Amino acid sequence: MTTERNIEGIYSGPPIHWVGDGFRVKGYFSAIPDAQRKLSPFLLFDYHAPYNYPPTANTRRGVGPHPHRGFETVTLAFQGSVAHHDSTGSGGVIGPGDVQWMTAAAGILHREYHEENYAREGGPMHMAQIWVNLPKARKMDAPGYQPLAAAQMGVVRLPDEAGIVRIIAGEYQGVKGPARTFTPINMFDVRLNRAGRADFSFPASENAALLVMKGAVTINGSAKAATDDFVLFRNEGERITVAADDDAHLLVLNGEPIREPVVSYGPFVMNSEREIQQAITDFQQGKFGYLED
Ligand code: MN
Repeated sequence: MTTERNIEGIYSGPPIHWVGDGFRVKGYFSAIPDAQRKLSPFLLFDYHAPYNYPPTANTRRGVGPHPHRGFETVTLAFQGSVAHHDSTGSGGVIGPGDVQWMTAAAGILHREYHEENYAREGGPMHMAQIWVNLPKARKMDAPGYQPLAAAQMGVVRLPDEAGIVRIIAGEYQGVKGPARTFTPINMFDVRLNRAGRADFSFPASENAALLVMKGAVTINGSAKAATDDFVLFRNEGERITVAADDDAHLLVLNGEPIREPVVSYGPFVMNSEREIQQAITDFQQGKFGYLED
């Protein structure tokens, strides 16, 4: 017997800010009280709502070389196309439906920018980047990538043409997503047709949230959430029901919190001040590698 999971809050997010000159995002967590605890293992959620970029002839919008250490960056593309390359010589492109799950761990130095052909044409960009914390024991592992192509995602078609759940990480109705995670995480890309509904169930001890990226929904039979609303659930009850009042597109996040100290400084997220100082020193000494601007 499961009970409904109550809503902690529905947040419309802070003002939009730019990451470099390429990404026009809302950093939802900055506007949520105690987000670090209530959303662990997720550390940051930069959401890029659909936005049309004009063509750029000779420049490529994006964000220049920067390091990461101690966590993972998960980049989801819904529309448009994003490219990256890093100081080890790795690179790649994330197009519609694709996800890049980058485990920065001990450290990586990379650039992220609009993919060349997309940049030349311009057009709609719709994406998100989520930072996922790593447990202490894995923060200094070697870095790595999981390029997750659209075709690899787990797919559950809901009955009565209610919609579709794409499983990026975790499991829904027995169907698994392709991402390998270091702690238990569910990440679902959900489309509901008008009047369609979907049920989710996550242990009360785990954190859970969803973002309405399009449309309007009713949650647990009464709470209304509209486009760009971020819904955070309490650690009470398990079941979440979502009914679409209009064609809806949602991102559903759930994870077991990592109950360890978090000390962060910009792109470094460690467990102590000493480790942050070490990260800064390592970066200054070129231990993250080099990349031309
Ligand atoms: Mn980055």
